[in-house]
Amino acid sequence: MMKQIALYGKGGIGKSTTAANLSAALAGEGLDILQIGCDPKHDSTRMLMHGTWIPTVLDLIRERGDATITVDDVVYRGFGGVRCVEAGGPEPGIGCAGRGIIATFQLLERLDALKGDVIVYDVLGDVVCGGFAMPMREGYAQEIYLVTSGELMSVYAANNIAKAIARLSRRVRSKCTLGGVICNAKNIDGERDLVEEFAHRINSRLIAYVPRDRGVQVAELNRQTVVEYAPESNQAAVYRDLGRTICENRTTSIPTPLEMDELESFALEFVQV
Ligand code: ADP
Ligand code: MG
Repeated sequence: MMKQIALYGKGGIGKSTTAANLSAALAGEGLDILQIGCDPKHDSTRMLMHGTWIPTVLDLIRERGDATITVDDVVYRGFGGVRCVEAGGPEPGIGCAGRGIIATFQLLERLDALKGDVIVYDVLGDVVCGGFAMPMREGYAQEIYLVTSGELMSVYAANNIAKAIARLSRRVRSKCTLGGVICNAKNIDGERDLVEEFAHRINSRLIAYVPRDRGVQVAELNRQTVVEYAPESNQAAVYRDLGRTICENRTTSIPTPLEMDELESFALEFVQV
């Protein structure tokens, strides 16, 4: 059965790094993977594509309208056969960033390209409006994974996304639930405990702790995922474990987001003074 998952989190927190390595790991298990970058930054699949910037769906639509676009124009095969798509974004200063995502889904539906064993949506969660909510709102992503570090701003973003999931889960079309929280470490004191406790408080759980590892940058400089560049490394093993955990995950939940003051007082408990 096809599984559709989405990684949501604050900009720069490590969603694309995690998503690309996850896809690479799952492809290594022989699974057919489709990764869709839903961030105007459009670098989600770049390491899977060995540093190439593939054309974005929004750029293609802008250049020639969507009527003549074929699957081969938008879907590119990367490492391990992972099929890569980038939604793209508007030109800076004009247009709504979420529009690219909406257009991408409409196009991929028309091309009947939304298939595979696992679809990984890599979504910017700084604003959970319009297009950015689409993967969860329209019944595409069934399981949401929140990517956060122990930094308050990224926990705050994760909590906002949890609010969106809780609200959207009441809608008929939406099938989205929270699959778990992934701690992508920034090496802050007490970080793991903080993120784990946050996960519990929002009625979820920490499903993976991804260490901060220099190997990520080294692989990046070689334009590859860690899973491809250093398959024997501990970090690659972490991503393969994450893949297995997500594939086997049967316990998803409807989150209970925290109020702002709750979130702040909770974070204070973990600050070393
Ligand atoms: P996002 O997609 O959330 O905007 P990225 O995946 O692009 O974030 O990550 C931003 C930067 O952080 C990347 O360039 C990468 O080098 C670095 N990074 C992400 N995760 C890790 C990690 N676990 N260890 C070391 N560096 C990381
Ligand atoms: Mg990204």
